Amino acid sequence: MAQFQYPCPDCRTTTSLHAPDCRFDGTAWTDIEAAYIHVLSTLAEGAKREGKLREESPGRWDRLHSAALSRLRHEQRIQETPGGALELLSPAEFKEQIAVPSQEPLGRIYEEGSVPGCHDHAVFALIAYYEMVGFSWEETRERVTDWLRESGTWDRGGFEEGAPEEVVDNKRHVYARGYGWRQAAEEAAAVIERRN
Ligand SMILES: [Zn+2]
Repeated sequence: MAQFQYPCPDCRTTTSLHAPDCRFDGTAWTDIEAAYIHVLSTLAEGAKREGKLREESPGRWDRLHSAALSRLRHEQRIQETPGGALELLSPAEFKEQIAVPSQEPLGRIYEEGSVPGCHDHAVFALIAYYEMVGFSWEETRERVTDWLRESGTWDRGGFEEGAPEEVVDNKRHVYARGYGWRQAAEEAAAVIERRN
């Protein structure tokens, strides 16, 4: 069974088996993870009051976001300053942590690199992920370009472009449109799986 990085904000499961009375049973894990990441990435920019957090959080603030926020406060990832603002403990650490995706199957794709036949999906998924966690386009471009080189993906060939930078630039629309990463990651992972 898949394990998720963030607990369900109500029953605290990290699998798709929720407690019988859980308010979020049947909620897509993509949505649960996105709510956490929206809260964390918005606070990574600096401490702010809850009203401001709600306003600035990417996507529409809903009960899942409120629940994720209380869970994070309960677990003391977030604390309240004497002035009443919400503050993320060590924003730099959080940024480092999310720069290496750990949600599967994206974590594995990041780790192992992509292979010819799924480059499109793999690059799409990574760009969509960095956009979701709040990285700027410049940060995203740098991260994905480095990944293409360092994961061995570029050396495996199968690209029409002449350089990793071009590959990333040709997918800028993914960043601009804010697609989700999961479907592309699953398609890429299926291709990688077949080649192993
Ligand atoms: Zn639950």
